[in-house]
Amino acid sequence: MSDGRGRGLDSGGAGGDFGLFRERQAVRAALLYGEGMFVPKVSVDGPDTGKWYMMAVEGKIAVRRVGYCGGNCDGHSTQSEAVEHFLQYQLDREVDLWLSRRGERGCEICGEPTTLRARLGRKTELVVLCQKHQSTISLQKLARTSMAAASVNEAALLVNQA
Ligand SMILES: [Zn+2]
Ligand SMILES: [Zn+2]
Repeated sequence: MSDGRGRGLDSGGAGGDFGLFRERQAVRAALLYGEGMFVPKVSVDGPDTGKWYMMAVEGKIAVRRVGYCGGNCDGHSTQSEAVEHFLQYQLDREVDLWLSRRGERGCEICGEPTTLRARLGRKTELVVLCQKHQSTISLQKLARTSMAAASVNEAALLVNQA
């Protein structure tokens, strides 16, 4: 057997608590950022001035609206509404449940050891959820928590750059 090499996620062993902690941090970041970097941004000019949209960012430039904000969306009056709109898109379109992996990890919600994983968003880190907690509701709960925290940081960043 020569599989498992360079696969990233489940390769290597050990790691211990430190590895687990770092992985959890990565999961939280990935829930928000996914493959690129998605942040809520307020329009500063044009007819949408003052409206918030979830945007994909390349470098430091917001290049396009993403998720439902990229479709038929009139913009949002707060950044958390924009984040919520994007989260809804991910929950509707980009959820994987009941993924099975080799190692047992503690469920993100209850800590129960499990080999099951879930994923929210594309190319994002896996989230550990036990059998009982394999649901979009759990993903929603975790994402809301991490997004709320991340949004505060992003808001501070955006203010500093303005
Ligand atoms: Zn929107
Ligand atoms: Zn659980």
